[in-house]
Amino acid sequence: MQPTLADIHAAAHVIRGVADHTPLVPSPFMSERAGVEFLLKLENMQPIGAFKLRGAVNAVAGARDTKGVTCCSTGNHGRGVAYAAKQHGLRAVICMSSLVPKAKVDGIRALGAEVTIIGTSQDDAQTEVERLVAEEGLSEISPFDDPLVIAGQGTIGLEMLAARPDLETLLIPLSGGGLAAGIARAAKSINPGIRLIGITMDRGAAMHLSLRAGHPVEVEELPSLADSLGGGIGMQNKLSFPMCRDLLDETVLVSEAEIYHAMQALFHEDRIVAEGGSVVGLAAVLSGRVSLTGPTATVITGRNLDMQIFARIIAGQDVTLGDTVIKGTPYGA
Ligand SMILES: *Cc1c(COP(=O)(O)O)cnc(C)c1O
Repeated sequence: MQPTLADIHAAAHVIRGVADHTPLVPSPFMSERAGVEFLLKLENMQPIGAFKLRGAVNAVAGARDTKGVTCCSTGNHGRGVAYAAKQHGLRAVICMSSLVPKAKVDGIRALGAEVTIIGTSQDDAQTEVERLVAEEGLSEISPFDDPLVIAGQGTIGLEMLAARPDLETLLIPLSGGGLAAGIARAAKSINPGIRLIGITMDRGAAMHLSLRAGHPVEVEELPSLADSLGGGIGMQNKLSFPMCRDLLDETVLVSEAEIYHAMQALFHEDRIVAEGGSVVGLAAVLSGRVSLTGPTATVITGRNLDMQIFARIIAGQDVTLGDTVIKGTPYGA
């Protein structure tokens, strides 16, 4: 069943004091560039450095009578599940592909969770999750296709619209669509006229291509600065696909060079450290891919990045990811 506004209010109650109320701050720099008032919802300030704690805390609280929890993850969901499982004294096994950056793997291990690295895609990791559920009796917590996860992420929408009921447009980073589905359910229930744009990278845009096709499609997973946005949406997707289909007004793609530039700009102008997947909303505005009419907000979804790569970006140096080289340019040059 798709989560309702009431489910999102219930989630807000469950996660209170653990994963709630991040700041929503105006960015004078982005406002100038966008030509409208532009605000940032700072989910990078969550204790695990990403918004995924909301959904994970809500879902783990709902799965308490279990031997433990497991999930596949591009890193941040695993960290959220590990954090929430630790609070409940539960075993957590996080399954990830070898594309997940070391910084994210280390963050999960530091919380005491077991980490299994398997294959080169989310699908490979999912196979191991299914084995753990069948053979070891663990409960699976999907990173995006779970009603409690979606309701948890939806609390971001509640907070944004409570703070600023006049927001006209929300730019939402999009991967499996749990974040977009939750925020969209909250925001459109409160203000049906609000415009919601899902934004993702052009390398392996699973939800964007699935929405176009009218059904979930498989994509090749490629290295990206927006590693958190990688992976498929699941061929058996039950919730996040139909919710994104029915609630998002449009989807927009950004390039690796545009993500690089947005990370640089956010650091140099607003002194915010943000991972690639969290700046796609800024990238879309800075590259002129969306036109805006009034107060707009985006979610800075996380900060869990590889510091060596970030240092290169800040310095304007080239970045090599697998077989791709992203050409660097010093900021402002
Ligand atoms: C997971 C994630 C997203 C995308 O969320 P979905 O629910 O998968 O669409 C965006 N940014 C960051 C930092 C993430 O970890």
